[in-house]
Amino acid sequence: MNTVTLIKGDGIGPEITEATIKVIEAAGARIKWEEVSAGESALKKFNTPLPAEVIESLRRTGVGLKGPLTTPVGSGYRSINVALRKELDLYANLRPAKTYRGLTTPFENVDLVVIRENTEDLYTGIEHMVGDDAAESIKIITRKASERICRYAFRYAQNADRKKVTVVHKANIMKLTDGLFLESARKVSEEYPEVEFEDCIVDNMAMQLVMKPWQYEVMVMPNLYGDILSELCAGLVGGLGIVPGANIGEQAALFEPVHGSVPKYAGQNRANPAAMIMASVLMLGYIGENEAAWRIEQALSDLIEEGREITPDLGGSAGTREMAQALATRVR
Ligand code: NAD
Repeated sequence: MNTVTLIKGDGIGPEITEATIKVIEAAGARIKWEEVSAGESALKKFNTPLPAEVIESLRRTGVGLKGPLTTPVGSGYRSINVALRKELDLYANLRPAKTYRGLTTPFENVDLVVIRENTEDLYTGIEHMVGDDAAESIKIITRKASERICRYAFRYAQNADRKKVTVVHKANIMKLTDGLFLESARKVSEEYPEVEFEDCIVDNMAMQLVMKPWQYEVMVMPNLYGDILSELCAGLVGGLGIVPGANIGEQAALFEPVHGSVPKYAGQNRANPAAMIMASVLMLGYIGENEAAWRIEQALSDLIEEGREITPDLGGSAGTREMAQALATRVR
């Protein structure tokens, strides 16, 4: 039996987590949950949003499932999500975006994966004022992190039977930073001659994705472009309510929905649990529970296609609990 660290999260987090556990149990996956609190609930209970036991548990189990965590805007504590990624060196952020039959989206048959470098670029938070009227933010790109993420992307493509990796950059303008990322991608691509390799400048990529998304399979890019383009890809396939994310490192992996804690729906039984359920599908694949993962993904796809027992954001009228119950019944 696998032990998995469970962080229910803030806002709608506890409801979508309950829904997800119900579906996982129905699928017969044998998991022992080690529940820990982070975010607002931990702040109330332990006076810190990130108690040491969260990191300890993730280090011990090596795998976690996490609901969304609220980050105060402007002041207050810094993002726990970013802290977890840093602390555990979860360097690869994997964000698949796939169309479901039954959802109205601009395109059919989109099946893309964005692989975002998760540890550097403009997200190191090194910013300062220069006098009163100017500010600087430092963009860091290292050869080590760039080669590591590109190697992850090619390995992922190989394992997932994908034919092509596209590296996204702005090396025409940022010749040193993005230039180094591109150079690293080119070097790593030579280790994988069976995978097609191409590069695309980020602005062109944005246009191509909203015109001909089927041209792409696996895209790898620095942190900021990955943040923005993965959300664009979410929009292509039906929005934040259905896309999962995985943060993967050498020692641990943390699976979560891409969306936030949607405080306005908290406790109302109207949050869509699909993104969290799809995050659990990625997690089940990671720990080798492939049969359960496959059954859940199929059941969710069928439920969405039928269009009745799904939440209002997907066009249905079911509550979170009802959607979870319908899925659990099918999965069984
Ligand atoms: P959000 O994703 O919480 O909500 C944006 C909008 O998307 C919502 O108003 C809602 O209409 C829709 N939506 C998203 N998920 C949905 C779901 N499951 N069911 C139904 N509708 C859904 O983004 P936000 O409002 O910018 O952020 C709210 C809080 O979440 C902030 O504190 C932010 O920092 C945090 N956040 C956390 C994570 C994370 O934990 N990984 C990610 C993003 C935002």
